[in-house]
Amino acid sequence: IAELDRRHLVHPLASWRGHEKAGPRILASAKGATVTDAQGHTLLDGFAGLWCVNAGYGQDHIIEAATRQLRELPYATGYFGLGSEPAAQLASRLADHAPGDLNHVYFSLGGSDAVDSTIRFARHYWHSKGASERDQFISVAQGYHGSSVVGSGLTALPVFHANFGVPLDWQHKISSHYAYRNPVGQDADAIIEASVAELRAKIAEIGAERVAAFYLEPIQGSGGVLVPPKGWVAAMHAVCKEMDILFVADEVITGFGRTGPMFACGEEGIVPDMMTTAKGLTSGYVPMAAVFLSDHVYETIADGAGAGMVGHGQTYSAHPVSAAVALAALDLYEGGLLDNGVKMGARLMDGLQGLSDHPLVGEVRGRGMLAAVELVTDKAKKTPLPAAAAPATRIFDRAWQNGLIVRAFAQGILGYAPPLCCTADEIDQIVERTRLTLDQTLEDP
Ligand code: PMP
Repeated sequence: IAELDRRHLVHPLASWRGHEKAGPRILASAKGATVTDAQGHTLLDGFAGLWCVNAGYGQDHIIEAATRQLRELPYATGYFGLGSEPAAQLASRLADHAPGDLNHVYFSLGGSDAVDSTIRFARHYWHSKGASERDQFISVAQGYHGSSVVGSGLTALPVFHANFGVPLDWQHKISSHYAYRNPVGQDADAIIEASVAELRAKIAEIGAERVAAFYLEPIQGSGGVLVPPKGWVAAMHAVCKEMDILFVADEVITGFGRTGPMFACGEEGIVPDMMTTAKGLTSGYVPMAAVFLSDHVYETIADGAGAGMVGHGQTYSAHPVSAAVALAALDLYEGGLLDNGVKMGARLMDGLQGLSDHPLVGEVRGRGMLAAVELVTDKAKKTPLPAAAAPATRIFDRAWQNGLIVRAFAQGILGYAPPLCCTADEIDQIVERTRLTLDQTLEDP
């Protein structure tokens, strides 16, 4: 199977290529927080797939809901004014959970096309207000907003920009809050002040009357799990409100209990104009994303044809099987998984903080079941691991041998996003296997 995969399957981000012949590692089955490979090696999935299997693997409640829906109605298009029961129920239940007046939901297939949709909704919003010249967008360095051409342009991680002409000329960036390596230091007030000043300056440079929307992740995920200082998100939101700029929260990772509550925005005390979610929505069992629209944004597209939204829609939007899966996942989140995630998230942070004294650990950070350990070769100088992907790959390989899947970002940051169903023992094992992996790395880099 691995040979067939090597010959015919494309893995754009496969770090094993050119490094060693170990990959791809074929997974055969999974249950709870563990996965088992084709050789029968069982591992703790400390990353919940790709930060998505929030409910854990093999949940009968989800599997039964999907099976039932496949039999009853496996497909219904959202075109021609059609719909399905699970999609309508899901939209309504999501609206109940969402902060403020994010009462309307557009379903797409994954986080990237959810982000694309918000660009169209934002452009449309301004068009309907007679301000079509508002066609410029701002996002944050170290941010990730998807792999579509437009989404990867909003993304501010250069590895996603090579050779295809992004960012586009209407996509602008401000610096990240990244406290551990912030030129203004680690003081929260100083970071907030600097970011507010930079956002204002960027808006002034573009021209306030030209800016359509500002994007952020409540916690930056793919940039290395960068947690902003308390109040940073609200400060960015306040600038957008003052300047009448749409504020889009990308909760593709942070949604559905990843940081504790159902959505991270609520914790920040803000209501975005739009919010993108995916991953935990269906717990990764099937693809689906949800874009939440506030009342005032929705009003501008409610009359779709008349307002020029014709052309926006997808074959698999509001897919009834995905909706049935998401409803079942919501049952589990409401029925105790979110609470367990809060408890286990605290345990994970405590455990990882216990590694802070390790010579290779520069910083431990996170919130809820989302955490990172930033590795350095010199703690005082905060010297990052060598920039090449190889050390990260070696750490990933070692953790794998130790029975742990952890994300090893190329810049030497270990990322954690375990399923919310983890037991205390599993959390402790994630920490212990990390410790073992770091000890081995220290001995033989
Ligand atoms: N936004 C954020 C914040 C993400 O983390 C991701 C995926 N990692 C995306 C958008 C894109 O989602 P997808 O890979 O499902 O297209």
